[in-house]
Amino acid sequence: MPVVLWISRQSLAVLERSLAVAWPEEGCALLLGGRQGRILHLQRIWPCRNVWRPNWPEMHQPRNPQGETEDLNLDDPHSRSDRFVVDPLELIAAQKYCRNQGTLLLGVAHSHPRGAPQPSAMDQRHAWPESLVWISAIAGPRSQLTERDRGAWWVGGSGRLQPVGIDILQTV
Ligand SMILES: [Zn+2]
Repeated sequence: MPVVLWISRQSLAVLERSLAVAWPEEGCALLLGGRQGRILHLQRIWPCRNVWRPNWPEMHQPRNPQGETEDLNLDDPHSRSDRFVVDPLELIAAQKYCRNQGTLLLGVAHSHPRGAPQPSAMDQRHAWPESLVWISAIAGPRSQLTERDRGAWWVGGSGRLQPVGIDILQTV
């Protein structure tokens, strides 16, 4: 299980600026790179649109073979300020890129425009097994982030999240 994540200062800036652009909504990005044993090396940031919509994902899952969908819950109290979904087309494009480049899709980053950089119950439920979860707490479009404003976790096969240390490399 990975215990540390390497990211260059430059990639960190790209990641957190791309997440901040979405403020006051949650921003998201795919994280690409390599893995050597217990070290993850984040080498490429793939910014994505947050395409969350009310009733996601229920409204996209047919309830019966006739393809009827769930009734829309118009009272859904959530919005893109507290929910995110990576654009599925971006995900497919990134997976193809990874296959061609021989690199790994390590996981997903997203921002919390309100609150702490801690995984929500929803984040935990929707995390992909064997992947990286990155969260930056971004309180405004031009916030200066410190190490207390970000966190990374590895999702084990059981779905349990284990903290991963973030090691910022000074060189590219
Ligand atoms: Zn979250």
